[in-house]
This record gives sequence, C-alpha cells and structure tokens, in this order.
Amino acid sequence: MNTLKYRIDPGNPDLNILEIVARDLKKGELVVFPTETVYGLGASAFNEAAVKKIYEVKGRPHDNPLIVHISSINQLEDITVGTGCLSPEKFRKILEKLWPGPVTFILERKAHVPPQVSAGLPTVAVRFPAHPVTRKLIELAGVPVVAPSANLSGRPSPTEEEHVLEDMDGKVKYILLSGSTPLGLESTVLDLTSSSPRILRPGPISVEKLREILGTDVEIPESARGRKSEKVPLSPGMKYRHYAPTKPLLLVEGELTEEIMKRLPQKSIIICSKETASNLREYPTLIWGSKNDLFAAAQKLFSLFRDAEKTDAEIIVAEGVEEKGLGLAVMNRLRRAASRVIYNR
Ligand code: AMP
Ligand code: MG
Repeated sequence: MNTLKYRIDPGNPDLNILEIVARDLKKGELVVFPTETVYGLGASAFNEAAVKKIYEVKGRPHDNPLIVHISSINQLEDITVGTGCLSPEKFRKILEKLWPGPVTFILERKAHVPPQVSAGLPTVAVRFPAHPVTRKLIELAGVPVVAPSANLSGRPSPTEEEHVLEDMDGKVKYILLSGSTPLGLESTVLDLTSSSPRILRPGPISVEKLREILGTDVEIPESARGRKSEKVPLSPGMKYRHYAPTKPLLLVEGELTEEIMKRLPQKSIIICSKETASNLREYPTLIWGSKNDLFAAAQKLFSLFRDAEKTDAEIIVAEGVEEKGLGLAVMNRLRRAASRVIYNR
C-alpha cells in the first residue's frame, strides 16, 4: 500500500488535510497519528472490519483489548455504562481534572460498541487525549477511534517520526507526523470496575497524583509494577512480552557499577543517567539525562531502546530508576522489556 504521509504542525494543524484524513478514518481506513503519550494506530471504533485490520497490521494477539479515544467528555456516554466503583459526582470531578490527558479509564462497555474493541470483554477502556492533532482528528471524524500504539506487536512504542515509519510505512493509508511525542510513555490505565480503583498500567499520571485527586487509596497490583511473577493477568495485555528491543535487555535494579559491567562477557551498550555514565567512562552509553529527571527518562526510554538496537552491541544494559512518581511507569516498561534482571541494592 502506498502510505500518504503528512507533517502536521501541532501548533497550527492544517485542517484541510485533517478533514480528508478524518473522512477516510470514519470510512474504515487506518491512520497513524501523534498523541501526547506515543504515536497511535487509529481506526473507527464502530467499524468492525477496520478494528480487525488493526490487529492484523500490528500482529496483535486477539485477546489484547484496545483503548477507545474520544474528543469530548460527553462522548463517554456513547461507549460506557455507569461510573464503576466511583459515585457519578466523584467520577465527573476526576474527569474534569484529568481529561483531556494521559489517563485511561476502564468501565462497563455499552452493548452497541463492537466486542472486538475490547477483545470480547464486558468492559472497555476509554481516553480523551490532549494532543491538539489527535483531538482535532477525532472531532472531525465524528466517531470514537480505537488506537493502540503504532508499533508492531511486542516492539517498543513509537515516540519519534522515524519509529512509525519503520513499523507502519506501507501498511496503512495515512501517517501523520508531528515530531517527538511529548510524554513518551503510554497512558495510565485505571480500572474502575473492581470494588476500588486500581492501576492496570502505570503511566504519565502517577499513582500519588491519582490518590490525591480521588482522596482514596489506589491499588497497585504486582503486575502493574511490571514484575513477571503474576500468574493470572489482570489486564489481558499484561501477559505478553512487551516493548522489547531486538537485543536481549539486562535491567539493573539498584546501582549499576563497573563490577557488574566487568562480569558481562558480551559487547554491551548501556542506557543510563548521566551520573552513571560518568562512572562508566570505559563503556559506550546512551544517556536520558540526569538521574532524577524521570520526565526525560520516560520521554526518551523507547527511543533509546531503538537506538541501542542499531548499535553493534550484543546486549543492552539498562539502569533502573526509583519507583516513585513517574518512576513506577518507567520501571514497568523496563521490567517488561527485560530478558534478565540483576538486583544490586
Ligand atoms: P495499547 O493499546 O498497546 O496501549 O494497550 C492498551 C492496554 O490497555 C491493553 O494492553 C490493556 O492492558 C489495557 N486495556 C484495554 N482495554 C482493557 C479492558 N477492557 N480491561 C482491562 N484492560 C484493558
Ligand atoms: Mg502498545
């Protein structure tokens, strides 16, 4: 397929182009577009053939549900029933604080939403994204849009233009390019269908922040930390190896020292903070920024995975971060991408 590629300025989106693309999106074509989290691969949520195509293009397992993206809070009523474990007033209040933005809520699915959208589950995931291009595109399409990350299944999510071109060029009708995605990690997924709110996937909105806004506890199941011990996946997507670079990734939780590096027989490339890099001058490194700059770590993580793949290293070594704030989301991705973990605390 000849993919039509357009560069869209987020500060001043070309509405003539977006109108044409939105019309085709509504008709059932697939469109790759930027969001504030990562690039998404979109299809009309109410077009079953288009939803099916998403699974084919990504090579996504059929039991891994999709997130429905909407362009106003009011559109939520078309997709979901009720407000789960929160009172309608409280739910409304948190929506007004967090939407548009990088949080996805799981609620009961309305009967007319095609079951393929949520892999047959009675629940559905919904998000109102903040990126101006995403918002305008969904608004012009006039339909909710399902959009997983625009990578081939299992690969690191795309956060740069070149990543979407690597994975999606020739497979979809349109690719919209707007530079780097601002946050770099997928949305926080909050399940409201259990007896109290719980995190299924940590993301840019931290658990601390959610607890503060909700005024209640928010459960973090072990699997949301990205540890592989969980036997029963809470969220269907959790059982797959994810975000994985093509080379083995060794995650070091705790201090990444020269002693650890000396013991590795393979040629390596290290993804780490600038402080750690300055202690490991003999080794090639890819740096996200300062150790405490978790925002930079989140924004660059997937991009550094792809950069590391392209080096001649046999193994990627990654430095872990503290599991606070955004650090929980960064560690979730690192642990799930890792083929081995060393604990050095
Ligand atoms: P992705 O589209 O790749 O960002 O992944 C979306 C993720 O959201 C899935 O992998 C699930 O973990 C989660 N998700 C989506 N819908 C549901 C649902 N109905 N119930 C539980 N988790 C869901
Ligand atoms: Mg994904």
